[in-house]
Amino acid sequence: MRYLVKNLVCGFALLVSSTLLLTSCVTPRAIKSDSAVPHSTTSTYETVHTRPTPRQGQYHSVAPGETLWRIAKMYDADIDALKDVNRIQNVRDLKVGRKLYVPNAAPRKHIVSLYPNKKWKNIVIHHSATGVGNSMQFNKAHKKKGWKGVGYHFIIDNGTCGKDDGQIETTPRWINQEDGAHCKAGEMNKTGIGICLVGNFSKERVSRKQLNSLVYLVKTLQGFYHIPDNRVFGHGNVPGAQTECPGKKFPWKKFRRRI
Ligand SMILES: [Zn+2]
Repeated sequence: MRYLVKNLVCGFALLVSSTLLLTSCVTPRAIKSDSAVPHSTTSTYETVHTRPTPRQGQYHSVAPGETLWRIAKMYDADIDALKDVNRIQNVRDLKVGRKLYVPNAAPRKHIVSLYPNKKWKNIVIHHSATGVGNSMQFNKAHKKKGWKGVGYHFIIDNGTCGKDDGQIETTPRWINQEDGAHCKAGEMNKTGIGICLVGNFSKERVSRKQLNSLVYLVKTLQGFYHIPDNRVFGHGNVPGAQTECPGKKFPWKKFRRRI
């Protein structure tokens, strides 16, 4: 019921959801022959069969900063088929909020672009302090404040406003490698990658899928930009910041154990 209400609040029809592809590729696992067994001459191999990936047509609502290339990559879809079926003449003319039909789509994957850039020295985690939202909505809200669109670099959705629980949205600020507008303290807007989880974690819990996506995203960014664990902050833990963000129910212990 809460889910339904949340989606009604957003004013969007829930898209046909796809499962997140969090698993990495599966390689055949070799089982060594037991050396304690005499005369054993052969090794046995266990082949792990994965279920065939179900492909099906599905809808995708264009988020700020998304290109046709990025959307095709998300669903491992054919970019020409995507263009044809949606009658797109000019790939640059892709309006935010437009619903595209993705034919023969694979389950959606996280696409995190990494750009060589020495400025990123910190990661700052936020909550939206709202029950619902997505990148497009924060983009609108932040523009109303007079900012240059959504102030974070990444949004991790909570299954509201037409997005899946745990979906990672990349914002134009990340694509253009621009300063954030998420944490003034400690010069974090200039040196910190801002990640916002949709939800109010002063009241509710971070979902399992959101936490999985956050761990994946933070580890990916830490690895590429060589950001140590002690430079991964909650907004409120940045020296000089006075906020409860990302909320007192944010699972710090669980999160720290996994990065
Ligand atoms: Zn914050």
